[in-house]
Amino acid sequence: MRSVDERAVADGGDGHRALPMLAADRGGFIDRHQLWTDAQYAAAGQLRRVVDELGIELIRFSFADQHGVLRGKTLTRAAAGAALRSGVTVPSSLLLKDPSGASVFPVFAADPQVGVPGFAGAGDLVLVPDPTTFRLLPWAQRTGWVLCDLRLPDGSPVPLCTRSLLRGQLDRLAAAGYAMTVGVELEFHVFAADARPDGGLDADQVGRPAAPGRPSVVRPVSRGAQLLHEDGLDRADDLVQLLHHGLTRLDLPLRSLELEFGPSQFEITLTAGDAADAADQVLLARSAIRQLCRRHGYHATFMSRPAGAETASTGWHLHQSLRAVDSGAAVFDPTTPGEALSPVAGHYLAGLLEHAGAAAAFATPTVNGYKRYLPFSLAPDRVVWGIDNKGAMVRAVGAGSDTGVRLENRCGEPAANPYLYIASQLISGLDGIERRLAPPPAVEDPYAADAPRLPTSLAEALTALAADPAFAAALGDPVVSWYLTLKRREFARYLAYVSDWEQREYFDLI
Ligand code: GLU
Ligand code: MG
Repeated sequence: MRSVDERAVADGGDGHRALPMLAADRGGFIDRHQLWTDAQYAAAGQLRRVVDELGIELIRFSFADQHGVLRGKTLTRAAAGAALRSGVTVPSSLLLKDPSGASVFPVFAADPQVGVPGFAGAGDLVLVPDPTTFRLLPWAQRTGWVLCDLRLPDGSPVPLCTRSLLRGQLDRLAAAGYAMTVGVELEFHVFAADARPDGGLDADQVGRPAAPGRPSVVRPVSRGAQLLHEDGLDRADDLVQLLHHGLTRLDLPLRSLELEFGPSQFEITLTAGDAADAADQVLLARSAIRQLCRRHGYHATFMSRPAGAETASTGWHLHQSLRAVDSGAAVFDPTTPGEALSPVAGHYLAGLLEHAGAAAAFATPTVNGYKRYLPFSLAPDRVVWGIDNKGAMVRAVGAGSDTGVRLENRCGEPAANPYLYIASQLISGLDGIERRLAPPPAVEDPYAADAPRLPTSLAEALTALAADPAFAAALGDPVVSWYLTLKRREFARYLAYVSDWEQREYFDLI
């Protein structure tokens, strides 16, 4: 028996993650379709005990949608038991929407043309909770949080469930003998919210599908241009304390909170860990930061280049390395003295470079994120790698260090769906390993190198994805074409929108 004190900090314990204890109720949809491991049954037993002992009244059953946004339902304590046996239903149309909430597929046609079954009539999908992810929300009264995977009502997998999709790709990597370690650097902006005292919205802030409402009005919280300035971060100490308290109480592996270069720009880093866990952690950390900030008069955004951030976009730098499944040994460390990388790391790196254009569709999935790929901005603009060079797309770092060698891809934006971003990396890298691709030489002048450019728009990245056979082979044609359809519609809406730029450029001149 584990004692209560051994539970997570958020559960009133000592800071360890809640661990399996009991094998609990079987029977129902989850048991019938054998959707949980023994560890998940045991975690569900522990979940029930925590709910009872701490008087939890509400549990949020949440899943990551295609955009990496959490959606789900909040269930009462009375309903949670049934949800742990049978799951929770949600409309399948949630997976067919662009970020504005507009359905991109004909959901009420007999064949909504998704390419996989289960989407006609906006019928139900089933959220299957993963009880090993259960946490208590430090900022909401008596409320628990559990991440879910999606299943069809007949128990079969939903290929468009991005959390499951990453796990499928990690299984493929494991079959090749490797597991993936990921370290996260996530930049973001926090502004002071100019919100109404009654908490309400103005009428023009209300959105419709394909026509989002007016964005929030905000003010800067820091002056910018003073990277890692200690006094600057001290001025934002209320925010630092707020985020530290919230993220550590969620048992997220927060490593640092930093003042970034741009005005109102911050960064968190998470301790490196298993790729599947890291993806969950990013999803939870982003939601936690937004919710904590909103409750304290701030507006946090993971949009790469929001208005007011002209001097510095935000990126999501993804440190990645492989370890051997059997021994756990790091396999990126050089085997020859003087080399920066092992042969396996070289192949993986070559895969990242070869597939950079297609992978950008997942690493930088918004219209806005492509405005970040500027020279001399610490963001990459072309497909090169360098040894500890922060202007290169991939930075090889760590040779001879205690943490070991890793490849830091600087392509991603912080809003990326973490499951798809990480999956895109391992699909690229694994293809490099399987084909024994060789990387070009490292560059020392990354913004002048004679190398292919990164896509300059979401449309270019989607064209690269459509043309890349490795992604179709790894994910299957239906998943790739679902994603292309969603994102092409988002880009078409952007192109059709008459922007402030056009008005300023032409209206008074011609
Ligand atoms: N904000 C930069 C980017 O867009 C990165 C700054 C840094 O090196 O931390 O990736
Ligand atoms: Mg940074």
